[in-house]
Amino acid sequence: MGHGAPMVRGSDVTVRYRGRTVLDIPNITLPARRTYALLGPSGAGKSTLLRVLGLLERPSAGCVFFDGVEMRAGDLAARRRTSAVFQKPYLLRGTVADNVGYGLKLRGIHRKRRHEDVSWALERVGLAGWEDHSALTLSGGEAQRIALARALAVHPELLLLDEPLSYMDPLLRWRLTLEFADILKSEQVTALYVTHDQDEAAVVADVVGIMRDGRLVAEGDSEETLGLPADEWVASFVGMEPAMRGRVVASAGGVVQVDCGGTAIEAAADVAVGADVSLAVRPEDVALRRSGGDEGAHGAENRIVVTVAELHPKGALVNVVCEAPGVRFGASLSRAAVRDLGLAEGSSAVALFRAGAVRVREVGAG
Ligand code: ADP
Repeated sequence: MGHGAPMVRGSDVTVRYRGRTVLDIPNITLPARRTYALLGPSGAGKSTLLRVLGLLERPSAGCVFFDGVEMRAGDLAARRRTSAVFQKPYLLRGTVADNVGYGLKLRGIHRKRRHEDVSWALERVGLAGWEDHSALTLSGGEAQRIALARALAVHPELLLLDEPLSYMDPLLRWRLTLEFADILKSEQVTALYVTHDQDEAAVVADVVGIMRDGRLVAEGDSEETLGLPADEWVASFVGMEPAMRGRVVASAGGVVQVDCGGTAIEAAADVAVGADVSLAVRPEDVALRRSGGDEGAHGAENRIVVTVAELHPKGALVNVVCEAPGVRFGASLSRAAVRDLGLAEGSSAVALFRAGAVRVREVGAG
């Protein structure tokens, strides 16, 4: 699909509803042929931004460009550049082929070509040969795959996905997240994917933007955005402690040693000695062992004696907040592991994590 896929840019976009500003985005770029995930809590403005960039709604002020050409929302030509998958699949009475071919018919594509595009799209979503099934007998997961096929069939310049999987039960949701991610990667369409779930964003997106109160508060490569929180609010939103600070004191073979004020952390990064950095490690990457016990060799370059500062249960897991001089980070453990290790506030333990799991960013020179 990729060739017609433009880079999409929003410039000084604001949206006001009844005098209240719900969107204020000086600049956002969706890279061509990549998936950009907009992540944030409910009410942050994600869907509004999706509608503006997707030319479904005209902003109160600002412009949207597709490959540098200004687009005007609202007219038919604009609408035909994009297609969308929403939370609910909105299937029409009739066959699967009627549904998948709907956008093609609106665009005046003749029958033979429509037939080809429909079967291509069905194959893409793993439902090859389903043309004649009745759309009203589909399961929730099948219906949403049909909705994706319908959106893909028109070969949109920009594919919009607004919480497409949030109505699914967890197991199906995970399977479809992986399937959708795989389709978006192989089709190389420019896609904007709205979700409130960071795990979903991590799987589908190349680039992640985090929104709060109508603004973009963090943006970048998905691993870095989700792994090295830009500020305290973002840290809390992605389930981490705020980034730590330190200074690089040694660097060799792609691994730096960072002095965090009493505790040294090794990180796989290429930053000059003397640089001030912020750094963080995802709780899932940290293992805890009994202090003084046999920690076992896990190939973990970091082995830090810590004190447990807080325990935060989160469903089946517990986020164990660990402290050592100058550092504070979370470790994600099962409830059983917390019990077996006898962890409580004030207990000591040994934290193990790989240098490769530590994200590092140089902070403002000087
Ligand atoms: P999200 O997708 O992040 O949940 P939305 O973009 O749906 O957030 O909403 C952002 C804010 O704009 C919310 O406060 C919401 O109530 C408000 N809003 C969205 N659409 C409208 C509308 N058509 N009229 C008035 N307020 C709206």
